[in-house]
Amino acid sequence: MLVVMKHNASKEEIDAVVDTIKEMGYGARAIPGGQRTAVGLIGNDGAVDSGRLLGLNGVLEVIPVTHPYKQVSREWRAENTVVTLANGTRVGSSDVVVMAGPCAVESEAQILDIAHQLREMGATVLRGGAFKPRTSPYAFQGLGVRGLELLAKAREETGLAIVTEALDPEGADLVAQHADIIQIGARNMQNYALLRRAGRTGKPVLLKRGLSATIDELLLAAEYILAEDNDDVILCERGIRSFDTHTRNLLDLAAIPVVKSLSHLPIVADPSHGTGLRAKVIPMARAAIAAGADGLIVEVHPDPPLAMSDGAQSLYPAQFQELMEQIRVIARAIGRDITRPLSGVAVG
Ligand code: PEP
Ligand code: MN
Repeated sequence: MLVVMKHNASKEEIDAVVDTIKEMGYGARAIPGGQRTAVGLIGNDGAVDSGRLLGLNGVLEVIPVTHPYKQVSREWRAENTVVTLANGTRVGSSDVVVMAGPCAVESEAQILDIAHQLREMGATVLRGGAFKPRTSPYAFQGLGVRGLELLAKAREETGLAIVTEALDPEGADLVAQHADIIQIGARNMQNYALLRRAGRTGKPVLLKRGLSATIDELLLAAEYILAEDNDDVILCERGIRSFDTHTRNLLDLAAIPVVKSLSHLPIVADPSHGTGLRAKVIPMARAAIAAGADGLIVEVHPDPPLAMSDGAQSLYPAQFQELMEQIRVIARAIGRDITRPLSGVAVG
């Protein structure tokens, strides 16, 4: 439920609404908006008697939030959420953000080499797994803490923000110490202990859609993070399981405009895991931007045939350059642009 205040409501009137909601046994969150402040009521699992709130001074109206998710919904916040990263990159603004890098951090030379190339080609966020969720326990599991340290070094040299995956609650704390965005992978979308812990770190979280998750399940998973008082959530459409075997997953492009209408959170697309095929990554990246994605997360490797994971879907650096040129044209056609690297950071 949302208590919308009159545009001239005083701080005392807003505080009185917060106090009353707490007296009623619920949680309250003031949501300042462009026009007026609203106070969100959280913690209810059913209808709430709004009569007491409607009678308070400064209250304009009380709106029930009809979706099971509350804080992530457009009803709760009409304006788009913009997640600002430590390097100043804004995710969810009118500019499209490009996150790129290898599936996994493999060595110092590999991650520094690709980080510098990506920076020069216009990426603003570097991806790379230090902890890898692999289908087989015998496959490469990532460099662990050493991988996090190498990512931090790449950030120091290039100014790129870092996004990397946490596999468990302890890992969330560890990743938060080194990275700018904590990635929650598809396999962990409904790992609620992990979602809660990632939320509590206060760091931005990139939440990937589960392999068979509905859009409502994705939004409810995001709600766990917002419920920990962390609004900096970036959703990610990375493809879902389908019956067709021509691609690794089915990149659900319709999820992008659907999420944009249901939620104020930014959503990016991952055409690498979404297709599993290098040759299909650029077309689907173009399509995702045309569909309204706030950004891309793309796998790029300095030498894909040698990649220790996901080489078949990793772009060559020259292909990434091509992708950047093409999506810039598409972004401009829909009144957007591609976020540019911030100046003042040494490259080289
Ligand atoms: C990844 O980003 O490398 C990854 C494992 O992604 P997902 O969780 O979407 O499979
Ligand atoms: Mn991967």
